[in-house]
Amino acid sequence: MNDLSIRASVGFEPAKEVFAGQHLIDGAWADSASGATFERVSPSHGVVVSRCAEGSAAEANAAIAAARTAFDSGVWSRISGKERAAVLLKVADLIEANVERITLQEVLESGKPIAQARGEVSGAADHWRYAASLARGVHGDSHDTLGADMVAMVLKQPIGVVSIITPWNFPFWILSQKLPYALAAGCTCVVKPSEMTPASTVMLGELLIEAGLPAGVCNIVLGYGDPVGSVMSTHKDVDMVSFTGSTRVGKLISKVAAETLKKVALELGGKNAQVIFPDADLDEAADAVVFGTYFNVGQCCNGSSRIIVHKDIAEDFVARVVALSRDVRFGDPMDEATQVGAIVTAAHNAQIHKHVQAAQAAGAKLALGGGPLVVDGLSDQFYQPTVLIDVSADMGAAQDEIFGPVLSVMTFDSLEEAVALANGTDYGLSAGVWSSNMHICLEFSRRAEAGTVWTNTWMDGYPEVTFGGAKQSGQGREIGRYGFEEFFEVKSVVMRVGEKSRARWVTKET
Ligand code: NAD
Repeated sequence: MNDLSIRASVGFEPAKEVFAGQHLIDGAWADSASGATFERVSPSHGVVVSRCAEGSAAEANAAIAAARTAFDSGVWSRISGKERAAVLLKVADLIEANVERITLQEVLESGKPIAQARGEVSGAADHWRYAASLARGVHGDSHDTLGADMVAMVLKQPIGVVSIITPWNFPFWILSQKLPYALAAGCTCVVKPSEMTPASTVMLGELLIEAGLPAGVCNIVLGYGDPVGSVMSTHKDVDMVSFTGSTRVGKLISKVAAETLKKVALELGGKNAQVIFPDADLDEAADAVVFGTYFNVGQCCNGSSRIIVHKDIAEDFVARVVALSRDVRFGDPMDEATQVGAIVTAAHNAQIHKHVQAAQAAGAKLALGGGPLVVDGLSDQFYQPTVLIDVSADMGAAQDEIFGPVLSVMTFDSLEEAVALANGTDYGLSAGVWSSNMHICLEFSRRAEAGTVWTNTWMDGYPEVTFGGAKQSGQGREIGRYGFEEFFEVKSVVMRVGEKSRARWVTKET
């Protein structure tokens, strides 16, 4: 693979930078009662980069109790939207003032390239600003047509205590797709970041305090899914779980949360397809496919891990994708020019390779890559840009979320076939279509079983535009007005007014 654009280590010494993280419970930083800690080893540099308190059920229970008390006290849930917005806007400013500090730790823990991590952290501030704008526009309904002596209103009230559980692939961004919206609604929260990327959540906790968020409104518990996430998904004082992660854990949470009938919002995995018609701008489409395949080291829920290309252009299009893939800069995440960094764990790197080998055993062929990538001076957690061709719909490479820099190529003859192939998985997160014919784009968009469809572009997102998954990619929506609405309970208030007496139910027989 020495014709690839590989960037070796830039000589960074991360061992000096070990981050120490504590829980944030009721406004105070705390270690675990047991004294237990866990460490994160940098995927790219192979050294310990953070050491954090490892939560148990005791810390999870304490955090939930703090969130419950804060919610019931009204210190946040009953103040005005204007006051809540003021705090959220301060958080946005503080995020921007701390971008570099947060970015560095995110790179070290996740293995993603520094330029992408910086974009993720600085871009997240916009979610806080947009959520602040929503905080002031909450309103329900009124009913003035029920008769002269009746009036009713439908109030929107914060749902209560929300457990927020996040994954490792976009730790700061995904938290910012949830927390500001929950806070804008007036909810109180308990947050658990992934055990692989705890630091940026802790740093955000510091900023929340600095911005003046009252104690107990946002609590953070560090540690593993079991026990911390389990307690957060089952505790009777939690009203809602907002989860982003794998479909496997999402299903588990849905099951255990049912015991107390708490609301569950799930953002899960994807096997997203881009469909390319012959009349598309093929250079643009190829670049977007390469971006969709390798962005965030291919570990992206919205990764376009499948393409479905018209047979007439398949050979030419794959050649363009392979040529562009060779120019993508793989290497040290600390290098500003790197575009693809390290895989999150050695076990996951091995899993990616297993998927690729299984695809080959099932009849797929390699047009590029197909094995681990050696980057001088860094860990063995890198994988080559990989393009699999001759993939058929029944193969794992067409069905499973591989979550690495691996593209599966399928072909089609007709729009019908393209729609069937795109919809032919259990997932339904996103899809894309490339054509200069808007009728084709619209027809595909209307028939794609996906929460988001991009036409002649890929992975553009805005706080205003809601996001979420169909089928086994999730339930509920995040960001935008629809995402904001998830954090409310609706209450009907029916009032008798005026002097007229209510018709009596008990009447005396005469
Ligand atoms: P994961 O499901 O393994 O873990 C996610 C979080 O759940 C972590 O914080 C983990 O500690 C916690 N967890 C694990 N077991 C738990 C349990 N029993 N109860 C409660 N919490 C538990 O996912 P991951 O590997 O961190 O992230 C990758 C996955 O996330 C991929 O499938 C990806 O597609 C998905 N994802 C989806 C979106 C989206 O918006 N749809 C965005 C990013 C990532």
